[in-house]
Amino acid sequence: MAYTVILDAGHGGEDFGATYNGRKEKDDVLRLVKRVGEILEENCVNVEYTRTTDIYNTPFEKAQIGNNSGADFFVSIHRNAYFTPNTTKGVETLVFNDEGIKARMARNINRRLADVGFVNRGVVNRPNLVVLKRTKMPAILIEAGFIDSDEDNALFDENFEEIANAIAQGIIETIGGGCNNNNNNGNTSKLYRVQVGAFRERKNADDLLMDLRREGFPAFIILENGIYKVQAGAFAVLDNAVKMEERLRNTGYDTFITT
Ligand SMILES: [Zn+2]
Repeated sequence: MAYTVILDAGHGGEDFGATYNGRKEKDDVLRLVKRVGEILEENCVNVEYTRTTDIYNTPFEKAQIGNNSGADFFVSIHRNAYFTPNTTKGVETLVFNDEGIKARMARNINRRLADVGFVNRGVVNRPNLVVLKRTKMPAILIEAGFIDSDEDNALFDENFEEIANAIAQGIIETIGGGCNNNNNNGNTSKLYRVQVGAFRERKNADDLLMDLRREGFPAFIILENGIYKVQAGAFAVLDNAVKMEERLRNTGYDTFITT
C-alpha cells in the first residue's frame, strides 16, 4: 500500500515567515513544497498539502489539517534565519525527538541536501514546536537553508530541482515508493527488484528486514513458493535497481535516482 505524505509549506498569507532583501520564506517554501509533491507523486507516494496557495493557517490548524488528512507522515518545509545576515548557513531538520522513522527520514534528507552543497547542521530536537508536537503521525520540519544567507539563496535558486529531488528521495528512501503495487493502470510492465535474502524460516527474513529498515532501506518481504524473500525496492528502470544494489553493497550512502 502506498503511503500518504502531507506536505506543509511554512507560514503563508499575512505571515511572511523570515524575510531578507524582499525575499519571503512563505514564497520559497510553497514553490519547493509543490515540486517535492510532484516528484513524490511520480514515485507513487500519495500527497496532501496543508496549503497550495498564499493563505494563512495557525500552526495548530496546520497540525489539525494533517491529522484530519489521515496521512502517514507530516513534512513541513521552512527556511531559516539568524539575527545577523550572512553569518550562518546550512540545512537542519527538526523533530519532536530523535527517535524512530522520523529521525531516519530527517537524516536521509539532510544527507541528500548536503550532497547538493548545503552545510549539514544535523537533526535538532524541538519538542515544543506545534506542528511536531500536535501531529499524530511521524513529523519533521526541514529548514532548507538560511534565507538571510546569500550563499544559501544562491544554492536554493541555482539547484532548486536538485533540492526538491533530495527532499523527495530522502522521503522515498525512508518509507519506500508505492510504484511496486501494480497500480500502473493494469500495465504489467516488468519491475526490477533488488533481493537481499531468501529464507525458509520467517524469523530469519524478519531479522534481515529489521536490519535493513534500521539502516534506512525501504525493505519488504514477499512469500513465493514457500520462500520468504527480502527485497529492497521495485523499479521500472533497471538502472535504478542497479543503483539501489550499489547502495546496499556500500551500506548505503549514494544517491540512486537522478533527474
Ligand atoms: Zn519558518
